[in-house]
Amino acid sequence: MERYDLRTEPSGRKRLAVPYRGARLLRHPMYTKGTAFTQEERVSLGLEGLLPHSVTTLEQQSRRVYASIQRKTDPLEKYIGLAALQDRNEYLFYRVLIDHIQEFLPIVYTPTVGRACQEFSHIFRRARGLWITPEHRGQIADVLKNAPFEDIRLIVVTDNERILGLGDQGVGGMGIPIGKLALYTAAAGIPPWQTLPISLDVGTDNMDLLDDEFYLGWRAPRLRGPEYDSLVEEFVQAVKRVFPRALLQWEDFKKLNAFRLLDRYRKTLPSFNDDIQGTAAVGVAALLAGSRATGIPLRQQRVLFFGSGAAGIGIGRLVRETLRGEGLEGEALTTATAHLDLQGLLMDDDPMLDPVQRAFAWPAELADRMGLVPDRRRDLEAVIRAYQPTVLIGVSASPGAFTEGAIREMARHTVRPLVLALSNPTSKAEAKPEDILAWSEGRALVATGSPSDAVTFEGRVHRIGQGNNVFIFPGVGLGALVSEAREVTDGMFAAAARQLAREVRDDDLEAGSLFPSTARIRDITAHVAEAVVREARDSGVANRPLEDGLIPGVLAEAIWNPTSYLPSDPAPLRPAGTEASMPIFV
Ligand code: NAD
Repeated sequence: MERYDLRTEPSGRKRLAVPYRGARLLRHPMYTKGTAFTQEERVSLGLEGLLPHSVTTLEQQSRRVYASIQRKTDPLEKYIGLAALQDRNEYLFYRVLIDHIQEFLPIVYTPTVGRACQEFSHIFRRARGLWITPEHRGQIADVLKNAPFEDIRLIVVTDNERILGLGDQGVGGMGIPIGKLALYTAAAGIPPWQTLPISLDVGTDNMDLLDDEFYLGWRAPRLRGPEYDSLVEEFVQAVKRVFPRALLQWEDFKKLNAFRLLDRYRKTLPSFNDDIQGTAAVGVAALLAGSRATGIPLRQQRVLFFGSGAAGIGIGRLVRETLRGEGLEGEALTTATAHLDLQGLLMDDDPMLDPVQRAFAWPAELADRMGLVPDRRRDLEAVIRAYQPTVLIGVSASPGAFTEGAIREMARHTVRPLVLALSNPTSKAEAKPEDILAWSEGRALVATGSPSDAVTFEGRVHRIGQGNNVFIFPGVGLGALVSEAREVTDGMFAAAARQLAREVRDDDLEAGSLFPSTARIRDITAHVAEAVVREARDSGVANRPLEDGLIPGVLAEAIWNPTSYLPSDPAPLRPAGTEASMPIFV
């Protein structure tokens, strides 16, 4: 592992110890500046003749690259182009990504990243991150030590079993940790050399992948049971040992493992699950902002969940906690949310319920009282007629599940229904925004999980908000790191949710959107991080409690920006065998 030594001088100039020269330096994505190396730097770093003559600025490089990416029409080609840029020159990649964040979010993340995961073994060019397979048992700490840089602060790990709404993608799931970490850097300024994507490649049960001659993963059925658990345990202990300052994000694990691992390890090392907790904060933020738009206070909302998996139960838990905080209890708390899954409304006499769903099951007597006799409990429209929800949240990855009848029924009881069709990628959404608006006569406030174009209904333009977890996880991660939190608490997610709701402006709501524009992501992230730092301090989990007045300054200092650096003498850092005598530019 190498140390990446970037310092800011009192003048504000960035100085980077550069341990390579010549062709090796030019090819290193974390050190190269490409054509932005000045003539003096080219002389002193052994780059003469290795570059075309003209020197360009980072801004010029960014404009040039942007133009070449724009020439590609297929989103997957854009993804491949951006991934290749990231592998070539990370400063430039992040400059381009930040400058065009709204345009490239759907490329580096959902929906395009979904296709990239599905086609991973076919479009593979260069490895990034670490793969851990069952063959590494007993040596996982050594594998972690193969990470390119030593001071890792943020790890996103997946076992690839539930990639977006696309199921088991085996080795291809790696696209998700890579994409999420790119967003951490773009939105929260987490330095890329402090991030590490990891795939626990424990095999796959996806037969198409196992039958594919190009499949790049560990070619075996999924490891399960005690062997899986002991591999994860070794991994967690190794992370603690090798990267003691790292925050760990569990990503795209299948529901029961997602909840189990979160609960087992959240106090072992600072860790969280974005699919459960990040989604929860996004959902609660939508409810809070929606309450402002509809005038119905949160405690009077009735929230119907379609899909009771990691996301549905995650949002349900945070909604319930928030309502409990507002004084709701007993039956009022139980009926504030209703949860459907494949078997219909979750009922407490159902022996098939999994342990996390059971907390949200209704007593049969309650459903009967609402007229929801057993054969009606399976039918979304019948449940809507009886329960009269003000909010409908789709997290089922079941496209088309919000039928015309269901939405019309909802709009009959609610003046401004909130309809969140959150399943990703776009092909999995429960309904199309234009249909939801048409069936609700333009009255619904609609949000989707992936980006959607604005919809014009009867002459009025409705902006469709994106319930993107990117509004939450970068701020939570940054806040947890800056406050050196020992644990990432649900309170930190609740604080993030409240802050995100505040970021939704009145003009967003008037335009029909329950979320702010992703173009504002850097500002929003900084504000979310501030709220998280305050909450970490107040709840006593911060090793570095910060007073309110200090927080913005400390955050600003922690946020990395892709600006050009001056190379400096790497003498104390130079790995054996590389050349000596780097000059110091002043
Ligand atoms: P999951 O597999 O844990 O849960 C999905 C649940 O939906 C399962 O319990 C499944 O049984 C149920 N389901 C499937 N078809 C159904 C049907 N026809 N009727 C009722 N229930 C049905 O997955 P998850 O992590 O909860 O994610 C679900 C979806 O939500 C995914 O598409 C994911 O991409 C999306 N999601 C979006 C966001 C966001 O927009 N911010 C965040 C997280 C997850």
